[in-house]
Amino acid sequence: MRAEIIAVGSELLLGQILNTNARFLSKELALLGIDNYYQSVVGDNALRLKEVLETAKKRSDFIILTGGLGPTKDDLTKETVAELFQTGLSYNEDALTSIESFFTKRNRVMTENNKKQALVLKHSKVLENHFGMAPGMLLEKDQKMIALLPGPPKEMEPMFLNQLKPLLELKMNHQATLTTRVLRFFNIGEAELETKVLDLIEAQSNPTIAPLAGDGEVTLRLTVKHKDANMAKLLLDETEAKITERVGDYLYGYDHTSLKEQLFLQLKKQNLTISAAESLTGGLFSGALTDFPGSSEVFIGSIVAYSTNVKEYHLQVSKEIIDGVGVVSEEAALAMAQSVKEKFGSDIGISFTGVAGPNKQENKEVGTVFIGIVGKEKEQSVTYRLQLHHTRQAIRERTIKYGCFYLLNE
Ligand code: ATP
Ligand code: MG
Repeated sequence: MRAEIIAVGSELLLGQILNTNARFLSKELALLGIDNYYQSVVGDNALRLKEVLETAKKRSDFIILTGGLGPTKDDLTKETVAELFQTGLSYNEDALTSIESFFTKRNRVMTENNKKQALVLKHSKVLENHFGMAPGMLLEKDQKMIALLPGPPKEMEPMFLNQLKPLLELKMNHQATLTTRVLRFFNIGEAELETKVLDLIEAQSNPTIAPLAGDGEVTLRLTVKHKDANMAKLLLDETEAKITERVGDYLYGYDHTSLKEQLFLQLKKQNLTISAAESLTGGLFSGALTDFPGSSEVFIGSIVAYSTNVKEYHLQVSKEIIDGVGVVSEEAALAMAQSVKEKFGSDIGISFTGVAGPNKQENKEVGTVFIGIVGKEKEQSVTYRLQLHHTRQAIRERTIKYGCFYLLNE
């Protein structure tokens, strides 16, 4: 079934309100496995609405309209649909009664134009409005389905969920639904990732594979269409296996889970604690790991060692290191991680030292970063050197992501 959403309202075209109805309905249609091919917005204008509807009638099986069911002159949706589908309008007794009682309950006098809201398309199924006055409708004619829903989301959403959705579910019962899984990668560029799996992307149609990049991360969204949930999972597993065979080293998590959350969850699962010594990141790592309820089980504490003095007197970075290779070095990173781990008695110590910019430091380029990680045993220590090419803030944020990623892969 090909569906199309038409939102009616000049205020949408003027940018006064956001078309949240389309977003809501699109999500719901996807869940139902109904293909949503088009969305349009049209003003409160009978001629243009008719134009849009004519096009929709040609190309779609199911048209959902929102807005323009109210009592005022600019509310023209049902009149226009009636004209195009050559059906009349008649008063719906139940709707009329409910509108009248709406006014009596509020001690207000009903104006004549309010009656207009009880006019419904002949032969349509009336959808009751429990949160407003104008009823919705579902018309089935000329082998098309047309749903008319009120504009206000607080009326439209419950009407859809409680009345229209069950009808659609019945119709879709034998059809497939969409299931998605997002694979999250780090430390690999979008282009490189895409090149490595391009043949899979091109060959796959169920599931489909769609790459997306942002903030140094790349994701692959797998979308499968199947009526059986277990089969859908199996198909996703198969495709995921093909992908991870090639780029599994960069995969860190799924769906909405960020790097920092994944790290938090993993440390918690492994019953490991961590402490940090932060120079260029100035506490960002500590902030990241304390974002989650239950952080105290994992995160012990940190020392923000911004000045060389703090590194020397509180983190045992030796004079030889400071005067020799400098504080932006593998040696300093290692000493910092080791020292903070011992001080706080955590299982893991991590350190960040580098040049966030805008100026060089110790004659080292902006974006030079060292991350030190000391694990449970002393011999489990590693340092990583990064050369980042970003702005100051992005260098700091990217450094945190690398820290999380390296820890996840320890
Ligand atoms: P009413 O009886 O309130 O006039 P209606 O069905 O005639 O309802 P509209 O007049 O088109 O609907 O819109 C009423 C209000 O509903 C808008 O002012 C806006 O706040 C909200 N609305 C309408 N369309 C949308 C939309 N597509 N997305 C989000 N909100 C909407
Ligand atoms: Mg209106």
